[in-house]
Amino acid sequence: MSLLWAETGTAVPASPKHGAISTRLPPAAFAAMQTISPDHIRWHVRYLSHDLLEGRGTGQRGGDIAAEYIATQFAEYGLKPAGDKGGYLQKVPLVGITTLAATQFTIVPKQGEAVNLKLLDDYVAYDQTQQAESDVDADIVYVGYGIEAPEYNWDDYKGVDVRGKVLLMLVNEPPSDDPAFFKGKALTYYGRWTYKYEEAARKGALGVILIHQTEMASYPWEVVRNSNSGEKSYLKLEGPALKVASWVQLDVAKKIAAITPGMDLDKMMSDARSRDFHAINLTAKLKAHMVSKVRNFESNNVVGILPGSDHNLRDQAVLYTAHYDHLGIRSDMPGDNIYNGAEDNATGCGILMELARAYGTAKERPGRSVLFAAVTAEEQGLLGSEYLGKHPPIAAGKIALDLNYDDVKPLGAAEEVEISGAERTTFYPWVEATAKEFRLNIRPDARPEAGHYYRSDHFSLARVGIPAFSINEGIKFKGHDEAWGTAQYQEFNEKHYHQPSDEYHAEMDFTGDSAMARFGFALGWEAASSSKLVGWQKGDEFEAARKSTLQ
Ligand SMILES: [Zn+2]
Repeated sequence: MSLLWAETGTAVPASPKHGAISTRLPPAAFAAMQTISPDHIRWHVRYLSHDLLEGRGTGQRGGDIAAEYIATQFAEYGLKPAGDKGGYLQKVPLVGITTLAATQFTIVPKQGEAVNLKLLDDYVAYDQTQQAESDVDADIVYVGYGIEAPEYNWDDYKGVDVRGKVLLMLVNEPPSDDPAFFKGKALTYYGRWTYKYEEAARKGALGVILIHQTEMASYPWEVVRNSNSGEKSYLKLEGPALKVASWVQLDVAKKIAAITPGMDLDKMMSDARSRDFHAINLTAKLKAHMVSKVRNFESNNVVGILPGSDHNLRDQAVLYTAHYDHLGIRSDMPGDNIYNGAEDNATGCGILMELARAYGTAKERPGRSVLFAAVTAEEQGLLGSEYLGKHPPIAAGKIALDLNYDDVKPLGAAEEVEISGAERTTFYPWVEATAKEFRLNIRPDARPEAGHYYRSDHFSLARVGIPAFSINEGIKFKGHDEAWGTAQYQEFNEKHYHQPSDEYHAEMDFTGDSAMARFGFALGWEAASSSKLVGWQKGDEFEAARKSTLQ
């Protein structure tokens, strides 16, 4: 059975005659897919981004109304509840932490005078143990990049016990052009600052001091400072955490390094690029008194399931995700203070609900079950999806694939698809073949070094081993050239991204959103029907996580 391309109704020639891959959507699935419509998506977007929804803030009334709306749609489409206590909502316990001005940070050399650092100017810090007050008085150990990556034969922690220590480290990863070494120019998760904190906490360290360097972090200190002042949200503590999760300015790091005789930060940084690097005990301590405001609050993921038709496979599933939260309402701000989040991410939710509806109407079911999750707190740092990954309604090792939708622009008939990360999975040949049948060109990630893969909800599922990627449009739309597409994205980023002006307009064209939904429908149906679960390509950084969940 062939697929029809998007909305045009043009028949696409049937499956490739020779290759092993051919589209196998059964007629019932095909018929259900064809009911996916741009207008259905439009009305969801219009509603979710209405001023009355107050920007769907996490832990705010508007966010809760959005969750109830989505749960109601799921019920109407025939999904079974897959949240807590037989309902559609999965409670996500959250904690807001604000570091208060009473916090003190002092570098104490073995000999000589202590140096007091100034909050925000010299350093930023959060107490991830979620206590109102914490004290640290511990030796500082320099651990280079702070990475332990067996697949690249790299270990900055070799031969050193960091329990009870504070670790000074670099952001990013050892530079390389070799794709077989930390993926060359592309950023792996080992380069992200979140990984550095997590790994240090797992190893029993009390604190981390990340060294900020504009060229390595690819953003100036102001960005670190702005995103690390005020309240920061976390999942309620479930595992080991750092009392001090901090960044310092480069100059401060130089001073800390120079305290130890014979040490020089420039040399320490270049030494860290070698496999032979060994951690260095510095002759300085960090004395920190962390004072925080701790606010407990909660929000919900919305989770529904369509049970599969095969007795042996229905305890496995394919997962679709999209975040429903946005930035809420800022009552202290004059003028329009509602962050409607029409494109970011009412569009993804519209697609998610339309997929749920289409699956619900299908006269047949795939063998595996299909899970639909509208997740919360993405804008706070992928927290809702992180919680879902840690508490999946079906074990992570039994989830074949996650397909995520985030900010799918209503710009008309898309002629491309962007699916970065798909090439890392064993499902990729299928993705390529399906794209071809949909007459969608695959647009490669323009800037893999920016690490976008790690900044969207699919990553929360990937890190627990589930093969996962987002589906989005590229930049080429029917009737326009690439420059037009690029200009549309640029204009949105400059004027409307995370602004109250990300609003619904009647002239928005959801043709491409619908095409992305159909494309995802075809992929998901296949992953829910094929004999084998999807895996990661050999040597991928998530392969170990996947293996650990497959018994
Ligand atoms: Zn956003």
